[in-house]
Amino acid sequence: MQVPILDLKAQYATVKDEVTRAISDVCESQAFALGPAVAEFEKNVAAYCGCKHAIGVSSGTDALLVGLMALNVAPGDEVVTTPFTFFATAGCIVRVGARPVFVDVDPESYNIDPALIEEKITGKTRAIIPVHLFGQLAQMKPIMDVARRHNLALIEDACQAIGASQDGVKAGTFGDCGCFSFYPTKNLGGFGDGGLVTTSSDELAQRIRILRDHGQNPRYFYKEIGGNFRLDGIQGAVLNVKLKHLESWNVKRRQHAELYDRLFTGSPVKTPRIDANNVSIYHQYAIAVPDRDNLAKYLAENGIGSAVFYPKPLHVQDCFVQLGYREGDMPIAERVCGEVLSLPVYPELQPDQIEHTARTVLKFYGLH
Ligand SMILES: *Cc1c(COP(=O)(O)O)cnc(C)c1O
Repeated sequence: MQVPILDLKAQYATVKDEVTRAISDVCESQAFALGPAVAEFEKNVAAYCGCKHAIGVSSGTDALLVGLMALNVAPGDEVVTTPFTFFATAGCIVRVGARPVFVDVDPESYNIDPALIEEKITGKTRAIIPVHLFGQLAQMKPIMDVARRHNLALIEDACQAIGASQDGVKAGTFGDCGCFSFYPTKNLGGFGDGGLVTTSSDELAQRIRILRDHGQNPRYFYKEIGGNFRLDGIQGAVLNVKLKHLESWNVKRRQHAELYDRLFTGSPVKTPRIDANNVSIYHQYAIAVPDRDNLAKYLAENGIGSAVFYPKPLHVQDCFVQLGYREGDMPIAERVCGEVLSLPVYPELQPDQIEHTARTVLKFYGLH
């Protein structure tokens, strides 16, 4: 039995007719940069997330970048974030000239530890970027409290969490803005790169719309310098079709995770804690295990895909040496990077594939 880590072709087969019709409509209209399909998608995402505005952009990375720009994060500023995330979270902070200040993660959820944030705040701190890792929100109440007390901007990196909620409120609607990615492997994946910023501030939405199109307002008149962060019409059309299926896909991922959880109960295979007030969308189903790399090899030999998100925390990446961090500064993130392994959890996965995967994992540890 083969169990790939992800099977995008299986998902494509379920939406092929709808999607090809939507793409064909965009071709007929020739509205390839933004346009009506993107506007429609933005309206639907805002309604789905429960916020006032959604602004389509060129990628999750550009969503973070334009969010930081719109909130005036600038050279000399510090931005607090987690070292256990995809590179773009911290890369964008440096790209606007600011300094990432890393805060270690909670050992159970792997999200930023809210209790450790306040001690890292200085007179230069301008913003906090919590990341909703693997589809589960970081604990927003204590993070929002710190942000409010110190008058900091709050940007949610919700690139892995579209549709996830906390206390019934969706990811991307707690902070000043939320940033989403539609990279093909995300829970809502486009046919190429894409992203989006959510906000309920009219002023911020207006600013982001201007900045995503070079800062022009009106056309060919520039009061500030933005970039080309536009979302393609074809991506808007594809994503609009897929958005209708997102909720049912997320439910399937959750059911798969529950089955894995049951099969791993009582074994040494640990899984991140899902907080009681959270509904995860399981962008990843991660386990934390000893001898991780040999387990991954064993799974591959048995036709089972797996992946490591992430093998090295950001504070010790070569490109950030000038920040002055050292091995040992973020002990939890460093430990977790050596233990985590993501197992297949895509919606179209079958229960027997999950059972086979879990059984093979347990067999590696001599348990079956
Ligand atoms: C995917 C991702 C991004 C970047 O999104 P792109 O669309 O690939 O640019 C940023 N942050 C996190 C946490 C992500 O998972």
